[in-house]
Amino acid sequence: MSEEATVIESSVPQKRLVVTEIPGPRSREIHERRRAVVPPGVHSVLPVYIERSHDSILVDVDGNHLVDVCGGIGVTTIGHTDGAVVAAATEQLNKVTHTLFTMTPYEPYVQVAEHLAKHVPGSTPENPYKTLLMNSGAEAVENGVKIARKHTGRPGIAVLEHAYHGRTMLTSSMNHKAAPYALGYGPRAGDIYKAPNSYPLHDGLSGAEAAARTIAHLEKVAGAEDLACLVVEPIQGEGGFIVPADGYLPALAERCRANGIVFIADEVQAGMARTGTVFSIEQFGVEPDIVLSAKGIAGGLPLAGITGRAEIMDGSQPGGLGGTFGGNPVSCAAAVAVFEQIERENLLGEAKRIEASFTAGLNRLAEKYDSIAEVRGRGAMLAIEVVKPGTLEPDSKLVAQVIDFAASQGVVLLSTGIHNQGIRFLPSLKMSDELIDDVIGVLDEAFAAA
Ligand SMILES: *Cc1c(COP(=O)(O)O)cnc(C)c1O
Repeated sequence: MSEEATVIESSVPQKRLVVTEIPGPRSREIHERRRAVVPPGVHSVLPVYIERSHDSILVDVDGNHLVDVCGGIGVTTIGHTDGAVVAAATEQLNKVTHTLFTMTPYEPYVQVAEHLAKHVPGSTPENPYKTLLMNSGAEAVENGVKIARKHTGRPGIAVLEHAYHGRTMLTSSMNHKAAPYALGYGPRAGDIYKAPNSYPLHDGLSGAEAAARTIAHLEKVAGAEDLACLVVEPIQGEGGFIVPADGYLPALAERCRANGIVFIADEVQAGMARTGTVFSIEQFGVEPDIVLSAKGIAGGLPLAGITGRAEIMDGSQPGGLGGTFGGNPVSCAAAVAVFEQIERENLLGEAKRIEASFTAGLNRLAEKYDSIAEVRGRGAMLAIEVVKPGTLEPDSKLVAQVIDFAASQGVVLLSTGIHNQGIRFLPSLKMSDELIDDVIGVLDEAFAAA
């Protein structure tokens, strides 16, 4: 146990407790007020209003203790209100809350860049990686594309089917799903080329075959000499936690290298220790030109990193990159606390423990229920794909029923996949095996009830 963690005691028992129907009366009352002042485009999947949280437990305004297996979509990777993160952010908040890094800078920004340079695969003293910090995953993608265009002098952006990269004008044009992210918000950004991905359960292709298909498609629709970058989620997040076939990503990276195309790994969801390595792409043997991080990087505070080879990152003119809040000092201090814990507390090992115990439970369910076609993922980024038995047809209705049932029992789950054909599991790396068993038990009941 770290000093910080013993100083700040866990304020919420790590146990599920349901005391009202969910959402409870107080949540419903706030939700009514919200309807009057917040537009429906900002949708809440589970309109249960949260008052407190710690590690894996959310306490709502009605006093229910919910097990959080969504983690704000993979943000609270080291748990909610982690003691060291809260202490570091509080101290920084009292020292400097904002100066604007592009005006009068501060050290925590530099520390985060140093940590990222240390962990990004490919970064060495001879081949250093440099970092620009922003606020959100979509901003990380936007800036990665800007930097790649500047470096190559080319316009084209290649992306994969089933991809998700954000909700800004450029990134919403890069997503697989137009609805709801881009529909009606056009004109969409141009020079974006979508190619088939590797989806082993559905395409049955080897990594080499899937890569050949992706490359052939891009040759036809774009042409290598027009492409600035290929943006890839090593494990696709919103797309369904799709782990590509062996050899797929190395073949794409090789193709990019041979043609001067910047290979950008969007690790916004899969990164920051979640999959058992600091960046998931390490497990596929690829050294990307640029790595994007956000979600889990600052223990719940907004921060995003664009980390790339110096010769690529150095291509932009002073003033070409940045933003008022980019690399906020409080977020940076929190991120330093996250990196220190990853290095000090074997969180990578914890991700592997979670993979072993969660996957064992999910495999038991897959044996029992024909509707679970596959259990997949890495570390604490796991999913099941739900189908009509005997087929590979998505059963999004069953997914919704299971998620609703789990919510009524105090377990917070989220769907995944372009057809909502999966349920994803993004537990805190500190979730106990006991709590994991509890979640599996609720899932079992949910499938049985449906
Ligand atoms: C969530 C996500 C984004 C967008 O991040 P925001 O912080 O919501 O803008 C981009 N890429 C991936 C892979 C994501 O999961």
